[in-house]
Amino acid sequence: MPTFNTRQRGWNFLQTPGPTNIPNRVLSAMNQPAVEFLGPEFIDFAQGLFDDLKPLFGTTGDMIIYAANGHGSWEAALTNTLEIGEKVLIPETGRFALSWGDFAGKLGIECEVVENDWRKAVDPNAIEERLRADTDHEIKAILLVHTDTGTGITSDVAGVRAAIDAVGHPALLMCDTIASLVTCPYEMDAWGVDVTISAGQKGFMLPPGLGFNAVSQKAREVAKTCHRPGNYWDWSERLDSEEFYLSFCGTAPEHMMFGLRAAIDMINEEGLENVFNRHFRLSRAVHAAVDKWAEGGALQNNAINPKDRSNSVTTILLDEAYDPIDVRDICRERYNLALGNGMGKIGDESFRIGHMGDLNETMIFGTLGAVEAGLKGLQIPHGEGAVNAAIESLLESND
Ligand SMILES: *Cc1c(COP(=O)(O)O)cnc(C)c1O
Repeated sequence: MPTFNTRQRGWNFLQTPGPTNIPNRVLSAMNQPAVEFLGPEFIDFAQGLFDDLKPLFGTTGDMIIYAANGHGSWEAALTNTLEIGEKVLIPETGRFALSWGDFAGKLGIECEVVENDWRKAVDPNAIEERLRADTDHEIKAILLVHTDTGTGITSDVAGVRAAIDAVGHPALLMCDTIASLVTCPYEMDAWGVDVTISAGQKGFMLPPGLGFNAVSQKAREVAKTCHRPGNYWDWSERLDSEEFYLSFCGTAPEHMMFGLRAAIDMINEEGLENVFNRHFRLSRAVHAAVDKWAEGGALQNNAINPKDRSNSVTTILLDEAYDPIDVRDICRERYNLALGNGMGKIGDESFRIGHMGDLNETMIFGTLGAVEAGLKGLQIPHGEGAVNAAIESLLESND
């Protein structure tokens, strides 16, 4: 086993926005021998997982589990529905929206980005306006990132759906929920999403390695007429085949699925609403702490509007006089705390605190205390009392 952090004692804090802390119960569930994966027990077990995943996505549609990370799940959604030369619209939520677009571009899909301020959620009116001008329906899909992990901002999926409906545009709505699922409400069917993309290593608390596509009937229909050669990602191969073997296009990622079973059980035992509320409360405590630090004038919440701030990750902008890498280094080396890097065009001027998955109040206090110690060590001006602001925020939201 590789040994990380051998010089450090006590617990290591992993507050990156993926991978996230893996509960012991998930790890233990994976610590068992391989089983016969075409045997009846495993087939039943897998069926139970598909069934129990659907409510977490808010769908009764089709569900696919890939042995893949989030990027694989992106590619799956694209290759099933879009041919070379077809066009998609990408609301610019931040770095992940642009990366997904790069992926699409390499697959020969034409991408048009609807520009957006990285400090604000997507404006559905801008989408509506662009779709209204697309009278020939050249735009085949809208690629929307629910929570862009680079900016720490959550956009209004239902609002984008309403914009599409207001124009009566037939484009598919595809939504990347990799950083949002199981951390905040998400209703695939009620919000009219056609393809939901997700992955295991964030809200689901799993090791990296599972990707998900949830697929509406409309997207299935589009996929049936989409002429793009492919095998591994192909939905119909996995969904329409009588042979269980093909549901995973080969050997199922058994141990990841054992972990997923444990994670779903934990989520359901806590109650999905309670999971959302916990994420909401903890995230607001972090936001309150950052607002307090901001009084020193050198750092601030990237998301300007509090309502846009995500439940799962906080992006903190740092004045250009300072280097966010120094903050991450001092937190890692001196305080056993891993933080997220800055991304995209704000890469050199931001760092991130991940707060999704297996997390409680005390972990937040520890994280904020360590960041503050790092700011002090680096002599970065900051308002005093951030941990106290977090405590106050939690006390208020517990009332
Ligand atoms: C993490 C993340 C991805 C990429 O997932 P990988 O598993 O690293 O491929 C994509 N989109 C969003 C919003 C993410 O947070």
